[in-house]
Amino acid sequence: MKAAILGYGVSGKSSENLLKHLLNINDILIYDDKDSDCLPIKEFNDEFFDLVVISPGINLSNLAIKDKRKIISEYELSFNLAKNKTFIGITGTNGKSTTTFLTSQLFEKVGLKSVACGNIGYPLGEAILEDYDYFIVEFSSFQIDLLKEGKYLDAAAIINLTPDHLDRYGSFEKYVNSKLRISKMLKECGYLVVGKDITAYFDDYDTVIDSQFKEYPKLDDDCLIFGEFYINIRKFPLIGNHNLVNLSFALEILSQFYDLKGDVTDLITDLKGLAHRCEIVDTINGITFVNDSKGTNVDSTLTALNGFEGNVILLLGGLDKEGDFSKLNDVVNEKCKYVICFGKDGEKIYQQINFSKKFLVSNLKEAFDMGVSVAKKGDTILLSPACASFDEFKNFEERGEYFKKMVKEYGSK
Ligand code: ADP
Repeated sequence: MKAAILGYGVSGKSSENLLKHLLNINDILIYDDKDSDCLPIKEFNDEFFDLVVISPGINLSNLAIKDKRKIISEYELSFNLAKNKTFIGITGTNGKSTTTFLTSQLFEKVGLKSVACGNIGYPLGEAILEDYDYFIVEFSSFQIDLLKEGKYLDAAAIINLTPDHLDRYGSFEKYVNSKLRISKMLKECGYLVVGKDITAYFDDYDTVIDSQFKEYPKLDDDCLIFGEFYINIRKFPLIGNHNLVNLSFALEILSQFYDLKGDVTDLITDLKGLAHRCEIVDTINGITFVNDSKGTNVDSTLTALNGFEGNVILLLGGLDKEGDFSKLNDVVNEKCKYVICFGKDGEKIYQQINFSKKFLVSNLKEAFDMGVSVAKKGDTILLSPACASFDEFKNFEERGEYFKKMVKEYGSK
């Protein structure tokens, strides 16, 4: 058996491991244009291989593959190699990683041995080698595209759908169809959790699975009611309504595998969020510092700001991704005390923000210092840049770590 791997990042590497150690396939050629130890992708020809493993970063439509049956992905390899395990797929435009992480924490809390894996940073191909029963798998649309139709999932969730990756899909409709296709991967008794807004999309889709749709839970004062069970939302430690949505998906999924009854607030009181997503770093001199470095587009900054009552000093800027920053004007006027624009596209952002208390500085360090100099007790300094980080940093994680380091230094002064 001869195999090719296209794309040699985390997914490609974990596929290589599965091929060698679980399938005993050692005749493998690896193609990746970004890695000089690999072959260039233009030299790839599927005729020479029995199996072609494609990583999600590779755009399938750019490849001339004659026999599509040979294609397999890290996810499909993993599902086939761990057939007796339970797989739960989570997708959507925003909130995938957080929901995946919340779901796995909830499963662990009730004693179900689970792991958050896939796009969240721990490859599925590595996770299946460990002794877990429940795999909570984050799916990007690219990962869905690579799966042949098959019954892999015991449950799936589609959190939300807004325009994204249009450069790859060409239209929102194609992107939506890619995401909805996760429903076709459900096992016969598989369960699909979708938001109300998603159900409308299924009207244009050829699979109708109404009986498995779940309505969003009802809010009664502080009580979020899911039929048989409920929680007090004041006890949920993560910031913002969007995180309540993510939590609701996580609880709905759990309820399919574990009997939840009555008040289950105890399950949610010490749940953790992921770093760099509205992460509360510290409160010093009465000023709260929040790191939302993952807020790399205008919509996610809008979502983040909506989670605050007010008195926000917003640090906004970096490398613009053609964002329309004027979309922030209403929420900025409602929630912010100051907006401090910074970074390569700081000036453009400064021009688009219609708000009297705004400043323009060169970089994140200056923005932070300016924020601290104007902040008063009770204020929140929020880094939610609505931009990519590459003008100053390697990635959003490095930017968030830098922000946290500045907070620590401020605290030790
Ligand atoms: P993803 O894995 O889909 O990129 P994350 O969980 O990493 O999502 O969250 C990234 C950002 O998306 C968050 O900082 C927040 O601004 C926004 N976000 C998270 N959950 C939601 C949601 N349910 N609806 C809308 N936006 C959200």
